[in-house]
Amino acid sequence: MSLTKKIIVFMVVGAVVGLALNLSQLNQDPFVDTYLTNGLFYVVGQLFILSLKMMVVPLVFVSLFCGTTALRDPAMLGSIGGRTLVFYLVTTAIALAIALTVATLLGVGVGADIPTDVNYIPKESRSFVEVILSVIDNPIKAMAEGNLLAVIVFSILLGLSATMAGKAGEQVIGLFKSFNEVIMKLVMLIMHFAPYAVFAILAKVFADLGVEAISTLAGYFFTVLGLLLFHALVVYPLLLKLLSGLNPLTFIKKMQSAVVFAFGTSSSNATIPVTMRTMTERMGVDKSVASFTIPFGATINMDGTAIMQGVATVFIANAYGVDLTNLQLLMVVLMATMASIGTAGVPSAGMVMLQGVLLQVGLPIEGIGIILGIDRLLDMTRTAVNITGDSAVTCIVAKSQNKLDQAVFDDPDAGLIKD
Ligand code: ASP
Repeated sequence: MSLTKKIIVFMVVGAVVGLALNLSQLNQDPFVDTYLTNGLFYVVGQLFILSLKMMVVPLVFVSLFCGTTALRDPAMLGSIGGRTLVFYLVTTAIALAIALTVATLLGVGVGADIPTDVNYIPKESRSFVEVILSVIDNPIKAMAEGNLLAVIVFSILLGLSATMAGKAGEQVIGLFKSFNEVIMKLVMLIMHFAPYAVFAILAKVFADLGVEAISTLAGYFFTVLGLLLFHALVVYPLLLKLLSGLNPLTFIKKMQSAVVFAFGTSSSNATIPVTMRTMTERMGVDKSVASFTIPFGATINMDGTAIMQGVATVFIANAYGVDLTNLQLLMVVLMATMASIGTAGVPSAGMVMLQGVLLQVGLPIEGIGIILGIDRLLDMTRTAVNITGDSAVTCIVAKSQNKLDQAVFDDPDAGLIKD
C-alpha cells in the first residue's frame, strides 16, 4: 500500500471515531475529554504538526539557495518570479470573482439569524507598508519568527552571491547541496508518522465538531465547500490543460498526499516540505523552480481562503441586511487579493484577513463571530485548495520555462513512497 493510501484510510477511520464520540456524547465525559481528545489525540497531532514546522525554515533556506545557484542567471530568476507572481494574483482574483458572484446569486445569508451574543475580538493585522518592509530583515530573526518572505529574499541574495564568489562560493554550494539531501531524508522519515497523526487530528476535530452549528449555517458552509471543490477540480485542471498542456488527471492524482497533509494540518506553511517533495519527485518540476514557487505560494497565494472571504462577505452583508454595490464588490476583490500577500499560511489566517476586507466595505467585523464556530473544517479544506493552487501554478511556470521533466510527470510511480 502506498503511504498516501494508508494516510487516507487512517484519516477516514479517525473521522469516524471522532464522529462516534461526538454523536454518542462520550466527548463530554471528563475522562475522554481530558485524556483522549485533549490528551492523546491532541498531543500526537500537535507533535506531528510541530515536526513538519520544524523543517520548514531550514528546508526553504537551503533548497532555495541551491535552486538559485542552479539557475545561475538572475534574468531567469526574474522571469520565473514575475510569471509566478502574476499567476498567483490572477488565480486569487478569479477565485474571489467566482465566489462573490455565486454567493450573491444564491443569496447566501439572506434571513439568517444573527445571534445577539456574538462576541468577536478582532486580531491585529498588518498594514501593507508593514508587509513590504518585513521582506528584508535580520535573517536569524526572520527564521526564528518564521517570516518566510524575508527568508526567501535572503536565500536568493545569498545564492546569487555564491555564484559570483568563485572558489569560495563553490565550496558553500557543495555543502548546501549535501545539506539539502539530508533535510529531504528527514522529510521522508517524518512523513511515515503521518497516518497515526492524521488519525489523531481528525478524531479530535470531529469529536469537537458542533454538527448542529453546521446545520444552522448550512447555506454558508456548503456554498464555500462547493466552490472550493469547483476551484480544485475544474478551474485548476482547466488552467493546467490550457496553459501547459499537462494532463490534469495525473496532476490531481499526484497531489493526493500533499492535499491530505494540508487537510490534516490546516497550514500551507507546515505542508511546504510535502508540497515541495510532490513537485520535485512526483511531478518532475526542477528544484530551481519549486524551491522558490512553493514557499512563495504558501505565503502569498491563497485561493481557497479568497473563496471563503468572498462568500463570508456576502453572507455577513446579507445577514445584516446591507446591500453591497458593484463597486464595493470590486473593492473586495482588490482588497482580499492584496491582503493575501502578507498573511502566512497558518491555521485561521484567513479570518484575520477577512477583518480587513469587512472594514474596507463597512461591514461589522462581529459578523466573523457567527461563522467562526464552523471554520475548522472549512480551514482544512481551503488549505488543501491553497496548496493545490500553488502546485498548479508551479507546474505551469516550470513547463513554460522548460523546467519540467515530462517523463517523471507521466510516470505514475515516480517518487511514490511505499509504506
Ligand atoms: N489555513 C490557511 C492556509 O494555511 C489559511 C487560512 O485560510 O486560514 O493556507
